[in-house]
Amino acid sequence: MSNYKNGLEYAKTLDQNDKLSHFRDQFYIPKDNEGNELIYMTGNSLGLQPKITKDYIDQELQDWANLGVEGHTEGQNPWLHYHEYLTEAMAKVVGANPLEVVVMNSLTANLHLMMVSFYQPTPKRYKILIEADAFPSDKYAVESQLRHHGYDDKEGLILWKAREGEELVRYEDLEDILKKHGHEIALIMIGGVNYYTGQFFDLKRITTLGHSYGCVVGFDCAHGAGNVKLDLHDSGADFAVWCTYKYLNSGPGSLSGAFVHERHAHRKDLNRFTGWWSHNKETRFNMRGEFDQLPGAEGWQLSNPTILSMAAIRASMHIFETAGFDTLCDKSKLLTGYFEFLINELNNEHIKIITPNNPDERGCQLSIQVKNADKKLHQQLMEAGVITDWREPDVIRCAPVPLYNTFEDIYQLVERLKKILN
Ligand SMILES: *Cc1c(COP(=O)(O)O)cnc(C)c1O
Repeated sequence: MSNYKNGLEYAKTLDQNDKLSHFRDQFYIPKDNEGNELIYMTGNSLGLQPKITKDYIDQELQDWANLGVEGHTEGQNPWLHYHEYLTEAMAKVVGANPLEVVVMNSLTANLHLMMVSFYQPTPKRYKILIEADAFPSDKYAVESQLRHHGYDDKEGLILWKAREGEELVRYEDLEDILKKHGHEIALIMIGGVNYYTGQFFDLKRITTLGHSYGCVVGFDCAHGAGNVKLDLHDSGADFAVWCTYKYLNSGPGSLSGAFVHERHAHRKDLNRFTGWWSHNKETRFNMRGEFDQLPGAEGWQLSNPTILSMAAIRASMHIFETAGFDTLCDKSKLLTGYFEFLINELNNEHIKIITPNNPDERGCQLSIQVKNADKKLHQQLMEAGVITDWREPDVIRCAPVPLYNTFEDIYQLVERLKKILN
């Protein structure tokens, strides 16, 4: 889209023509002390609360109050099966088959569980490849896996780095790394959308490349789930994990999702950590006898899950199903393209968008570098009613979310930024 226009009227027209504009009313929008709605650009950090979430949680509180333990089987939504109510919708959002998806635990915990199965180092092939600016939790997790298996966490880690003077990583460089080190790499673990630059990776390309060197390939899609079309099944990735409190709007610290490709669904040879929730549902409550592995991603569950958090995810899934993920992604491209257009219109030599300008290589987030700026800029935006995210040394990250952000939000944000910079 290159035929955007500047001006408030145009932003309002875009909002009027937006088929999804009514979804904003289904969310609580944070306000300032005077009761004015803030411009919320941090749905990539914590998604806003849908108004229906309370009803979904209240239902479970009520069943717990009225039924006690019987709620497991007699509740309106029997808790024993609660995670199954999420599977189909979640599978659609990440582009997977239901057998491949489960909601359980928190994100970093799931990453470890996946690595227990999919990081199987040998003395000849034990290294792990990640992006150089991977999310810190992922880096720490991967390093601890190396140490857990008795390897040095510096020597065993290979970083896919951006070139000097560049922010985005290049596929040619990944190909070179694999040419040189492919035979030593046990696992490639990449953030599906990089949290810092907003670069959305070609999951299929990375997977195919990794597999051609005999590496296992997994993704942390915390910044991808609910933001971009991940097509996890078609990517061929061995596993993926994501959280549900960012673009999936399920509340602080809510549960995480995990994907295991269906070619691993019935494997009994994979090393795993298990618990009673990994065991055959039919015989789980006989409480004795031999362990009988559940097929598919469900087989990685350990514990009976947090129902209240799942209720919030269920509310969110309802909204995604109603809006339609394809429609959301279309709006997202328009919204972010408009944002990019307005930033470029500023024509400010100190400002550089480091997120890819190809709409297929990004989601809704734009990471904007403001040279010579410091954290004061973030504070000034805050005072101007704009909530953004600051990353040292000089980057503001803004994520206009198609479910609740408007074109006018974007217009106002850029106007306020302009004022501050002048
Ligand atoms: C948000 C995020 C996390 C946070 O991990 P938790 O276990 O949910 O605290 C980890 N990795 C990535 C890539 C993230 O974006």
